[in-house]
Amino acid sequence: MIIVPEAAIADLVTPEDAFAAVEAVFAAMSRDEARNFPVVREALPGPEEALYGFKGGVDVVGGALGLKAGGYWPHNLERRDLINHQSTVFLFDPETGKPTAMVGGNLLTALRTAAASAVSIAHLARKDAKVLGMIGAGHQSVFQMRAAVKQRAFEKVVGWNYHPDMLSRLADCAAELGLPFEEVSLDDLGARADVIISITSSTAPSLMDAHVAPGTHIACMGTDTKGKQEVEAKLLARATVFTDEVAQSISIGEAQHAVGQGLIAEGDVVELGKVINGDHPGRSSDDEITLFDGTGVGLQDLAVASAVVARAKETGAAIKVDF
Ligand code: NAD
Repeated sequence: MIIVPEAAIADLVTPEDAFAAVEAVFAAMSRDEARNFPVVREALPGPEEALYGFKGGVDVVGGALGLKAGGYWPHNLERRDLINHQSTVFLFDPETGKPTAMVGGNLLTALRTAAASAVSIAHLARKDAKVLGMIGAGHQSVFQMRAAVKQRAFEKVVGWNYHPDMLSRLADCAAELGLPFEEVSLDDLGARADVIISITSSTAPSLMDAHVAPGTHIACMGTDTKGKQEVEAKLLARATVFTDEVAQSISIGEAQHAVGQGLIAEGDVVELGKVINGDHPGRSSDDEITLFDGTGVGLQDLAVASAVVARAKETGAAIKVDF
């Protein structure tokens, strides 16, 4: 098997590679060629208050089998200068079960999560989208912004965060991308943004139905666990709701609340892969609100990790071990 350490990943995968891998695996899921396994997510006992779990799956045609093991250690940054998300991807040969690779999963998680919202923007946002609205200014937010701006000719970024002192991170990233940035209220953000990305660890809605203008595309990327929530459930009833995987969307994604309150049904949630495959028309008018509930599926991790492994073998960056 081979090992690709975390420090080697940045040189082995680009946001474009991640976009291609994630778009392809979403399409494969909707053709029933690839399947995610149920997510395991457990609170660990002890003072670190960590959440740990596994996201796995199998892509029969793409030849990927494996899992991402990891989670969220909320005190890592303050206690030991480590990022709070820690994860590792393990790949196996689907024909034999033998392990083939162990790949650092931290940067991959950020890239595959950003790729998912970028794929949703590519397929669902209005073509004339000009203003990108960002809700959230944590570790993931800048990866989201960098991937999003490649999908439309954005001219400006507007941002809001629950902790306003963190907004300089968004301002710096927008400057790096050559775009003006403005800190705004949620009212303003909803009125002005053509595309909104929400990536927070919130457990109560920030973006309300009344904030959002017709024609907006919203990528809700923060809600990946039971109990988290970023947008008002009513907004999902007004929008056409797309997701990476319906089972996750209604149980651990943003749709858990709207379905739980009876505002939408499971059958109202559409897999983005169907749009990619041409089996669903996607956006049907300039006034329609489209909402992507990006819950994060194991197959995204396997897809980008497989791309990294292939590149690591080509470039000689792979560490080979007998196992
Ligand atoms: P982070 O800890 O670096 O940042 C957290 C963000 O949430 C900050 O913007 C913070 O201000 C905001 N926040 C905290 N409490 C809030 C509250 N009560 N109300 C509103 N906002 C609040 O985290 P991160 O690494 O940027 O990740 C953000 C979220 O994305 C997390 O919930 C994480 O689990 C989730 N995530 C999802 C996926 C996916 O595939 N969908 C992948 C990775 C991370």
